[in-house]
Amino acid sequence: MSETLQAVRGMNDILPEDTPAWEYFEQTVAKWLRAYGYRNIRTPVLERTELFVRSIGEVTDIVEKEMYSFVDALNGETLTLRPEGTAACVRAVLQHNLLYPGPQRLAYAGPMFRHERPQKGRYRQFHQVGVEALGFAGPDVDVEHIAMCARLWKALGLDGIRLQINTLGGPVARARYRGRLTQYLEAHQDHLDEDARRRLHTNPLRVLDTKNSHLAAVVAGAPRLLDDLEPESLAHFEQLQEMIRALGLEFEVNPRLVRGLDYYNLTVFEWITDRLGAQSAVCAGGRYDGLVAQLGGKPQPACGFAMGVERLLALMQDAGQVAAPWRPEIYLAHSGEGAQAHALRVVEQMRDQGLSAVLHCGGGSFKSQMKKADASGALFALIVGEEEARAGKVSLKPLREGGEQVSLDAGEAARRILAARPADAR
Ligand code: ATP
Ligand code: MG
Repeated sequence: MSETLQAVRGMNDILPEDTPAWEYFEQTVAKWLRAYGYRNIRTPVLERTELFVRSIGEVTDIVEKEMYSFVDALNGETLTLRPEGTAACVRAVLQHNLLYPGPQRLAYAGPMFRHERPQKGRYRQFHQVGVEALGFAGPDVDVEHIAMCARLWKALGLDGIRLQINTLGGPVARARYRGRLTQYLEAHQDHLDEDARRRLHTNPLRVLDTKNSHLAAVVAGAPRLLDDLEPESLAHFEQLQEMIRALGLEFEVNPRLVRGLDYYNLTVFEWITDRLGAQSAVCAGGRYDGLVAQLGGKPQPACGFAMGVERLLALMQDAGQVAAPWRPEIYLAHSGEGAQAHALRVVEQMRDQGLSAVLHCGGGSFKSQMKKADASGALFALIVGEEEARAGKVSLKPLREGGEQVSLDAGEAARRILAARPADAR
């Protein structure tokens, strides 16, 4: 016998027993996005590698070592499985001229791919939900994003997710800061790891973002961008904080919160938890006023955020937020000469009424079929034997709450099953 094949490492099957939690999450997210007026955009999973190199930047973990890239053998194009959603969203907006009528609120969801070391909360295929607001200068829309996140955590029944914010200022302050930071890091070269030493001259801000806890002391002693901002940037940051307070939300200013690329500016934020071990970030966002121009568009301010779905689902599970397993309303058992054709008509009639009905397939005795009906979790069994087929009826048997089996017209059976639905499902 040949060996059974396994999924690619770090890429997970989401099995039927887990999908109710995902569906609950997706439905909650869809409702939440509508509440804020964000419209769904869907872009391909595969893009030209150049898109990510130009938007994420060469000196980043993602572009340096995490991308699934390959050459299309048929036409020689270098392609990459998307590692994040912003680049493709902005590409699509520019390609289809979506900003022509004015600013846009957009949202996306789906699988992302990064070649990382798999561990709890860190996978090679994982899922994000992300939001982009294009054409708004903020800080009102920055706060909208923060309010959105807070509302979603609440809708999902999650607490203990803390908000950290920072500002990256504008290009002038950042260039000045880069100089100061480089000087500082050069003076502490001996305490840096290999990544940090390499980035010191290419992308020093990225050093502050290190996951190496041995660098904590060096990072803690580094100069702060926050201490040397342009007045406009400081005003933006202060207004942002005022508005967050006005919403009654708690936050912490973390001066080490950075993004290593020039088109990021002003607001950055992250939502973190202590309940997921090392994988503490559940959502990250901020402003990227330079990206639209970087990708060839007319300059437009923009901001957005992305959350990790697996990490949020893990938090929901920890919090005991378990979605009810799906079960059909009806299991239809049938046996005997002439019963099959009647059973097929009846089960389709049930679906006409909007009921969910599983038709027993594969034959077998009534006894074994009723066992399957019970195991399916169905609320009712419909039974079609020779007698029912002759009389044009069905037998209805409640499987969960007791009650007698009764012989009815199919239409009447459907009415009774519909009437037994909980009020919020009708
Ligand atoms: P991390 O610091 O954990 O590597 P990141 O800065 O690379 O995160 P972003 O690119 O900002 O993450 O992506 C937004 C969110 O997506 C993260 O906050 C996290 O919740 C989730 N995420 C990122 N990478 C992974 C992954 N490999 N597996 C699962 N979730 C992930
Ligand atoms: Mg990462």
